[in-house]
Amino acid sequence: MSAPDPGGRAACVIGWPAAHSRSPLIHRYWLKMHGIVGDYRAEAVPPERFADFVQNLAAHGYVGANITLPHKAAALALSQPDARAQAIGAANTLWLDDGILRSTNTDAEGFIANLDAAAPGWDAGIKTALVLGAGGAARAVVFGLIERGVPRILIANRTLARGEALAAAFSPAAQAITWEAVGEHLGATRLLVNTTTLGMAGQPPLAIALDRLPDDAVVTDLVYVPLETGLLAAARERGLRRADGLGMLLHQAVRGFSLWFGVEPQVTAELRALVEADLTKH
Ligand code: NAP
Repeated sequence: MSAPDPGGRAACVIGWPAAHSRSPLIHRYWLKMHGIVGDYRAEAVPPERFADFVQNLAAHGYVGANITLPHKAAALALSQPDARAQAIGAANTLWLDDGILRSTNTDAEGFIANLDAAAPGWDAGIKTALVLGAGGAARAVVFGLIERGVPRILIANRTLARGEALAAAFSPAAQAITWEAVGEHLGATRLLVNTTTLGMAGQPPLAIALDRLPDDAVVTDLVYVPLETGLLAAARERGLRRADGLGMLLHQAVRGFSLWFGVEPQVTAELRALVEADLTKH
């Protein structure tokens, strides 16, 4: 039997608000590139209507959806999550499987795939990664690093208790350190990850001197507005390898497209340029 024709299918991103999402740009590019007559739309759904909307996804014309703020925890609770979404505690991708609403979280794989693409070999012989922040994105990052086999992950968060709670969920590989102790751990850090909102447009800068990082360290920032954050600029000046937040955003979108439309799309330079142009326009 031939594979089902994905034509006519539609997916969406559900958020509140939803208009700022770059997901329609990304998925429409792939639909066009693969000649699929489908659609991908943004759906602004307030929290009080979210359960009804996702429980009737097919009636709304959709085979699946991306989930963005503030619905990621609710999406997990309203669906059959895979092990990843469960461990991360949030779902960002939904799909209908024979009428069953299933979910996953693609941030961990997007984070790792972006590192693999931007800094090949980043994990060869790695002993220590240092993660700044302990929010939802940090949880996905720590999960991804553990899945990849990074043996020691230090978590530094402004609010130590939140860092400790995240480390406890992923112990023994993950360990919490204080924000003040970051400097003394940089010498042993092969991968430095910013998952805080510091450095984002409108937020305070991330003030960390990178001189103590080893020359073969890789620096990555989840923030993608601006595209080159202060942290990434400092890493460039030191000649370190880098992976940026836009790359992660693009790579995390791959799985949803392949679940909904049956084709595994590529993160191309053309797609990146398209989204970059859109980000710099606003
Ligand atoms: P979140 O759950 O709200 O967590 C925010 C984190 O930033 C917390 O660790 C918080 O520390 C820290 N923080 C905020 N202000 C701070 C300050 N002034 N000083 C020190 N730390 C501060 O947010 P999230 O969902 O994890 O997202 C974090 C960032 O990742 C956002 O910029 C988001 O856009 C980005 N992100 C990017 C991608 C991508 O694909 N590129 C995917 C997901 C997220 P406390 O615990 O002390 O408050």
